[in-house]
Amino acid sequence: MPLNNSFAELPPAFYTRLMPTPLPSPHFIVASSPAAALIGLDAADLARPDFVDLFTGNKVAPRSQPLSAVYSGHQFGVWAGQLGDGRAITLGDLATADGPMELQLKGAGRTPYSRMGDGRAVLRSSIREFLCSEAMAALGIPTTRALMLTGSPQGIARETMETAAVVTRMAPTFIRFGSFEHWESRGQHDELRLLADYVLKHFYPELLGADNPYKELLAEVTRRTARMIAGWQAVGFMHGVMNTDNMSILGLTLDYGPFGFMEAFDANHICNHTDSRGRYSYANQVPVGHWNCYALGNALLPLIGAPEVAEEALDVYRPEFGRQLDTLLHAKLGLNESREEDSALFDAMFGLLQANHADFTLFFRRLGELKLDEPAYDEPLRDLFIDRPAFDAWAATYRTRLRSEHSVDATRRAAMGRVNPKYVLRNYLAQTAIEQAQNGDFSGVHRLLAVLERPFDEQPENASYAALPPDWAAHLEVSCSS
Ligand code: AMP
Ligand code: MG
Repeated sequence: MPLNNSFAELPPAFYTRLMPTPLPSPHFIVASSPAAALIGLDAADLARPDFVDLFTGNKVAPRSQPLSAVYSGHQFGVWAGQLGDGRAITLGDLATADGPMELQLKGAGRTPYSRMGDGRAVLRSSIREFLCSEAMAALGIPTTRALMLTGSPQGIARETMETAAVVTRMAPTFIRFGSFEHWESRGQHDELRLLADYVLKHFYPELLGADNPYKELLAEVTRRTARMIAGWQAVGFMHGVMNTDNMSILGLTLDYGPFGFMEAFDANHICNHTDSRGRYSYANQVPVGHWNCYALGNALLPLIGAPEVAEEALDVYRPEFGRQLDTLLHAKLGLNESREEDSALFDAMFGLLQANHADFTLFFRRLGELKLDEPAYDEPLRDLFIDRPAFDAWAATYRTRLRSEHSVDATRRAAMGRVNPKYVLRNYLAQTAIEQAQNGDFSGVHRLLAVLERPFDEQPENASYAALPPDWAAHLEVSCSS
């Protein structure tokens, strides 16, 4: 594998070169075919011992110069100072038809940025990151990718004793908002400029000719962040830890930890058990995305110049988010035209979902089955609501709206089926696959991956994966522990 390391063009202050720390008896767990295809590999080959060694960090490709990067960040709204890749090691980047793709091992051992951590990741959280990265990609939401997952019997101490795993992640770059905050917070504006110029040259070359490329960079990252979060809201994805060190400079969903998918709808739902105040609740993701862009804007200010100029760049957030969510909601409801009254229809829908705690994914999927002239056909949809008359009233308004644009049942159903997933990574599905894997059986992970790679397909043979969570799932708690 001819690995470059373009990040190493930057001076040594940006990273530490180091080798991954080997793990005993590494074994293959799973690989993603679509992710492998992005770098011209066949997932079946990845089970070979040489790839297992390479992607556990037990062997290093010749000429590759692995490194861990430094960054800082705001955690839960509070300045946290220096963080950095405490357990991630970048092997290098591969040239692909769509540009460079960086390969990074997560859980490959201690680094100078590990602070109190052990540099490892446990099997449980690594399965979650692996599956969700690939699930999000299949949903069409910008994300880092997961190429492969390996495990080792090495014991790792968390609340209980667990075992080690390594996820090989891929992205054009893993540079974060916090990578910029790092240099600004230290008053090191030369380094700040080098980093911004690096990002512009490699990932936003079209902005280089602008009068103020740094302002345009902020505006474009802000736009991408707004669109990414609109994508999250539309599928009910909750990141759980939207700290600025987990915000990608490319607008990719990054660092999967205590994430969740909305089930019984509650706009104030908090998926991360550690987030007691709900800073990163479903509804708060939208303003927090903006807040994080402000943190980036503040970091870029020495390059941008005047605060008013940075403000102008940041002002794109609300309109971009609004437009994107509006587009996505129209598609989710199978509406071809955009009308003034639609925002009232959407608000009433969210109010209804909130009051009834209806399952988010099932609601939109079943809504696609609705027939304009056969209300009796609504039963499975109607069953999601405790307050049936309230549902009937909303459905009547929705039908009227559909009729007004001469909507055709079959056409609308097909279109809605392409945007409203049947399968998302519900916590209980992940948990079931994890418990099996912890007992040495990875077939559940394989099967779940296959289901999530085709979230919009009916897959009747996998219908059980679309079911409401069982009662035991109500007690599942997902925390930052990983
Ligand atoms: P996260 O909350 O996962 O985004 O991590 C925040 C910071 O803690 C990052 O700098 C991580 O690299 C670091 N970190 C998390 N877990 C570990 C670990 N087990 N060992 C070393 N560093 C870690
Ligand atoms: Mg992180």
